[in-house]
Parts: sequence; C-alpha cells; structure tokens
Amino acid sequence: VTHDSQAVGGIDIGGTKIAVAIGDHDDRLLDVARFPTRIERGPHAILDETLETLSALARRANVRIASVGIGCAGPLDRGRGLVLSPPNLPGWDELPIVDLVERRLDVPVVFDNDANAAALGEHRQGAGRGLHSLVYMTMSTGIGGGVIVVDKLVHGVADAAGEIGHMVVQPNGPACNCGARGCLEAICSGTAIARRARERIGAGAESSMGAIAGGVEAITAATVARAALDGDPVARHLWDETIEYLALGIGNVLVTLAPEAIIIGGGVAAAGDQLFEPLRARVRQNVTMLPPDRVTISPAALGGDSGLYGALALGRSVLAEPR
Ligand SMILES: [Zn+2]
Repeated sequence: VTHDSQAVGGIDIGGTKIAVAIGDHDDRLLDVARFPTRIERGPHAILDETLETLSALARRANVRIASVGIGCAGPLDRGRGLVLSPPNLPGWDELPIVDLVERRLDVPVVFDNDANAAALGEHRQGAGRGLHSLVYMTMSTGIGGGVIVVDKLVHGVADAAGEIGHMVVQPNGPACNCGARGCLEAICSGTAIARRARERIGAGAESSMGAIAGGVEAITAATVARAALDGDPVARHLWDETIEYLALGIGNVLVTLAPEAIIIGGGVAAAGDQLFEPLRARVRQNVTMLPPDRVTISPAALGGDSGLYGALALGRSVLAEPR
C-alpha cells in the first residue's frame, strides 16, 4: 500500500440519517453514502452498517482508511469516547463508540458532537473558509452551536462551550428541554417556532397557517415563514419576534467573542433572505461595542453536509498527531 492510497473516513450520525464519506489528505471528498438510521435496530446493528458502508467505499475507491472522524448527536463524553443517551438516539447509553470503531477498523478515531463537527466543516470548507474565528449555529429541532477561535474548536469545561441554544434570552420564558426557562432554543428552534404558532392559534388568533399546513398540528417553522411572506399578520409577528430573540442571542455572542462570522445552518436557515436580511439589520442596531458590519452573518455553505465535512476534518486531525 503506497502513501497516496491512504484515505480518511468521516461519519456523521444523526437520529434520522447517517452519512459516511472518504476523503483524501487535501480536503477532497472521494466518495459519500447515506442511509436512514432506523434507530429501532439498536446501536450495534447501526454501527455495523455504518462501518460496512465505509469499508465498501474504501474498496471501491481502492484506498486504505488510515483514520476516522465521527460527528454524533450529543451529549457525549469526548474524553472517554462515549455517546451519552442523546434524545434522538434512544438506546445509545454510554456507548463506547470510539473503542468500538477503533477495534473494528484498527485505526485512530476521533469524535465530537454534531454541531462542533459542523462548525469545523464550515471552517475548513464552507462559509468560514479562510477565517480564524467563527461561531456556527444550527437551527432545527433544537439549536446547537460550535465555536472556533484561532482556527480551533473551543470545548471548554465538560465540552459545554458553544451551547448557544441554552443562552437565556427571556427571563421566565418558555420551558426548555434542558430544564431552564427562556433559552434561545425554547423560542427560536424550528420546533419552538411551530409550537408558538400553535399556541397563538389555540388562544384564538386568526391565521392562514392551519390551512397552509393542512391542520394546526401540522404547522412547522416553514409554515410560519411561508405565511409571514404571504402577509399573515400572526405569522409575521411570530417571525419578527423570532428575529428579535435571535438577534439578541447573536449580539451577546458578538460582544463575547467578536468572531469574524456567524454561520447558521439547519432547516430554519433555509428561509434564506427572509431570515438573514432582518437579522443582520437587527444585530447592527443592537450591537454597540464593535463594528457589526465586520462580522458576516451568513448561511452555512455546505448545507446538510457541514457535519460530514467536519467529521473528515476530525479524522485528518488525528492523523497529524503522533500516536
Ligand atoms: Zn435550554
């Protein structure tokens, strides 16, 4: 086996789908495969399919996998290489994923949570390419985040750095899954936006959103965005309120870290200019301690693959370290 035929494996594990890729040392993607998680099979069957898929990609590309990076839904214990009961991976309780993959493939493995992996992917190959500091946020069912300072992920105590979704933006606000109240996630995640819409309608507000979604229970954040564009007053108010709280959270991040960029991924970011234009304007109004125009606020460039590119970058990083 020549040096040139070595490759890096990347694995992005989520509750609904898993993406597996191989890449070379120069940030190139050689091949990728995706399949549904089918969570009911349990972690070992899922890992089997994941590693068999990775091996198949390597055989097809005629390369040998020399290291593997994994991005996985958290919480995790990075130090011990454990997955700790993520809400969307039921049954993955203290799963020693690093040991399992290392033993199976006999290569070094490094892993991190999915939001940190996505931050790294955007930094290396996406909207943050060439920057030295950025904060990545994903807005979907929850709000996750990852912080890069001086080209490196910041982990902090208990790997809790970057948990932007749990920044309190409304004292005594809505209850959050984490146990606190008024977290950004409890107001601005896709799930929370939809919940707030259903609450308004339940309280008697007249809105087209139920009709657009095919039932009040079927309303999503995308329904709210669409109805707001159509001029539905309830939806417009909800959308403005979402921007307001999001701008508050991002303003707090700006004065704490003054990063070069805020990069937003996840389903809510698919609203595009409808989200980003008023958000940039509101942040500019709010932030007084730095020139906010020097911080770009932009959508993730790699879309749903930010985490996968980050997983490959994690794999490359462990290769560079002596073992
Ligand atoms: Zn919270």
